[in-house]
Amino acid sequence: MKSRDIRQSFLDFFAAKGHHIVRSAPVIPADDPTLLFTNAGMNQFKDVFLDKGTRPYSRAADTQKCIRASGKHNDLEDVGRDTYHHTFFEMLGNWSFGDYYKKEAIGWAWELLTDVWKLPKERLYATVYHDDDESFDIWRRETDIDPSHILRFGDKDNFWEMGETGPCGPCSEIHIDLTDDLSGGELVNADDYRVIELWNLVFIQSDRQPDGSLVPLPNCHVDTGMGFERITAVLQGCQSNYDSDIFSPLFNAITELTGVTYEASLDGERDVAMRVIADHARALAFAITDGAMPGNEGRGYVLRRILRRALRYARKLDCRKPLLYKLVGVIAETMGDVFPELKQQYATVEKIIRSEEESFLLTLDRGMDIFADIVSSLKSSGETVISGHDAFRLYDTYGFPVDLTRLMAEEEGIGIDEDGFEACMHQQKERARSDRRRKQQGQQKSGTWQWLGDERSHSVFCGYTELEADSC
Ligand code: ATP
Ligand code: MG
Ligand code: MG
Ligand code: MG
Repeated sequence: MKSRDIRQSFLDFFAAKGHHIVRSAPVIPADDPTLLFTNAGMNQFKDVFLDKGTRPYSRAADTQKCIRASGKHNDLEDVGRDTYHHTFFEMLGNWSFGDYYKKEAIGWAWELLTDVWKLPKERLYATVYHDDDESFDIWRRETDIDPSHILRFGDKDNFWEMGETGPCGPCSEIHIDLTDDLSGGELVNADDYRVIELWNLVFIQSDRQPDGSLVPLPNCHVDTGMGFERITAVLQGCQSNYDSDIFSPLFNAITELTGVTYEASLDGERDVAMRVIADHARALAFAITDGAMPGNEGRGYVLRRILRRALRYARKLDCRKPLLYKLVGVIAETMGDVFPELKQQYATVEKIIRSEEESFLLTLDRGMDIFADIVSSLKSSGETVISGHDAFRLYDTYGFPVDLTRLMAEEEGIGIDEDGFEACMHQQKERARSDRRRKQQGQQKSGTWQWLGDERSHSVFCGYTELEADSC
């Protein structure tokens, strides 16, 4: 089955069960200050769960554009290193707003996976929240799953929350064992690429408060999410999401641009780099299409970090020119029928990404040279930690986000002094604050416009720590 048919068959299945098919919300949340990016299908229904809004239907299904690169759900560091976490992905979901509950949610998920899509039952595992006997019994009585494949887990894996606050509840998940000898039971939730989580069925019952307490909601709801790239890979018989037809046009384009062929290994440096580039190009294209801009603060800085990370990985393919913007057209062409906004916006998005790439490429080489000098002098003196001051210099002068420096350091088997880096950031912020104060006082004294001299050279970026820390 082609990926587009898989998406459609999910939607058709739930439409036949009385679900209203809705459009994906933008990947930039319209008015939710607790989120930088849409991180799950349920975000657009948060008001319904909290009893603050209604919809003219009580069952819905869709495919939702998600980005998990900040805040509570942040998979950025896994991307490329594994084969099933993306920054941008589609989440297929079905919802009940105070309508059906656990029995239907579990029964239909099992029906779709095993009757319609014919996944081998002996490879599937169900997990439930440790004290959720009701779900445990539904799995045992209402489905023909192997009873030894129903496992209980605690808060970390089986209690789902969208952020620090908001709707949440216990969940039941479906995992697939892709090992050759069906020995994967022990690997469920163990971050092993051969046993992966496919679908999460969340039973929304509570509202997490800022003080950490849980307030019961007036109604119980169902909120499910299945990774579209993961289910597509499984149904297409692939060991990796990147081997599916969702990614092949992007890999072909990257090969054309760089002359490097994807070998599909887990650890090969160039394969990791190609996965990162393909993934990050999608995140950038979708986020900018929906109105975000790379910048120095909050959401914009997350995008800037993603772009810079991708460009540094492009060096592993010996690519020194802007390339991400050239992938925007491929993404628009292959996904524009499902997300028409990509086609409408792609010329603008291309321009924005291109200019962002060009500006970082001006300092990337010099920054990489400085980094190499720092590492060689550390190594010759037997040290293993890059000082906060050096990490800050790379950040401030060469535009290296600290996570990029951390990543490069890790590749060299060394660390960075995170506290020292934060101290430098703090000092710079303080300097900027007192500059601002002095300026204001000066203005009050003279009461007229005045020359700000080289003010620009003193202005600092403080959004990364301030805004991101607030939302993390
Ligand atoms: P994992 O444990 O694999 O990180 P999760 O438990 O964080 O996944 P959920 O929040 O339960 O994921 O999201 C619902 C579904 O969305 C998951 O079952 C998975 O199929 C998919 N999914 C989650 N994160 C990603 C990601 N970064 N890339 C691709 N698919 C994802
Ligand atoms: Mg996760
Ligand atoms: Mg999980
Ligand atoms: Mg999960």
